[in-house]
Amino acid sequence: MIVILKKDHDAEQLANLKDWLKGMNIGVHMSEGSSQTVMGLIGDTTVVDADLIRALSIVEDVKRVQEPYKKVNRKFHPVNSIIDVDGEEVGGGKMQIIAGPCSIESEEQICGIAQSVKAAGATMLRGGAFKPRTSPYAFQGLRKEGIELLLQAKKLTGLPIVTEVMDISQLEMFGDVDFVQVGARNMQNFELLKELGRIKKPILLKRGLSSTIEEWLMSAEYIMSEGNEEVVLCERGIRTFETATRNTLDLAAIPVLKEMTHLPIIVDPSHATGYSRLVAPMAVAAAAAGADGLMIEVHNDPQRAFSDGIQSQTPEQFAQTVEKIEAVLPHAYKY
Ligand code: PEP
Ligand code: MN
Repeated sequence: MIVILKKDHDAEQLANLKDWLKGMNIGVHMSEGSSQTVMGLIGDTTVVDADLIRALSIVEDVKRVQEPYKKVNRKFHPVNSIIDVDGEEVGGGKMQIIAGPCSIESEEQICGIAQSVKAAGATMLRGGAFKPRTSPYAFQGLRKEGIELLLQAKKLTGLPIVTEVMDISQLEMFGDVDFVQVGARNMQNFELLKELGRIKKPILLKRGLSSTIEEWLMSAEYIMSEGNEEVVLCERGIRTFETATRNTLDLAAIPVLKEMTHLPIIVDPSHATGYSRLVAPMAVAAAAAGADGLMIEVHNDPQRAFSDGIQSQTPEQFAQTVEKIEAVLPHAYKY
């Protein structure tokens, strides 16, 4: 349920209303916009008499929210959320370009790539230290050493760093990580999501391999319901009957999500397509459709990459992609 308050409402009456709701075990989420203040009611709102609230002089309107996601819901929070990642704002109008290798392989590799993507216009650096691989025999990541190398690359370039956590037990190594990624395979690891809800760091939540948009938003709700409201969504393609691409990039998710939620959305055209030659056109399309950011895999020597070489752009290809993205930005959809 949401309660829309009248402009210049009386503070004491609002406090009374909040106390009354608290007495019924209803949590309140306040959202102050420039034109209206919205109170989001969280909990079992079947016990709340909407007509009673509507009759209050400070109340403009009361609406029942049918959707199971609340804190994530745009009805609860009509203005776009802006998430600060070590000084870079996601969702604030600036296109964020996260680039880097699938896996961190060595100091030379991650530091070299970090410098070249920065020179090409990347605003954040990615690199996997814990890798969720289909085969247990494939490279699993450098783990703790990988995070240390990523931090070295940050020191060198100043780029905020993004890396994936696969398990709660790894979180103690993420103290200096700026943006914690939840991979597609972990989108419904609810215990992990709840734990991430208790930390104070922005979370990049990737869409599950076969997840609906509503399931994805419910996963974001898990994080937010525990108190961490710094969530960014990442569309990375879903599994369909199509085999010409690694996954099927659901670009319609951008305008659909912009209606459903206030959270920013980033698109990963690398995992979505699986082929480096398809990355630039899909990056440009995502930018045009109004994505708040992009995440692109870049490797100095894709043929020898420890993982995802086929979909990785070279630094030169990435630099050209950034130019194409920048060219489309003045015409991009805004929400
Ligand atoms: C990744 O970003 O390296 C990754 C493993 O992505 P996803 O979880 O989307 O497959
Ligand atoms: Mn990858």
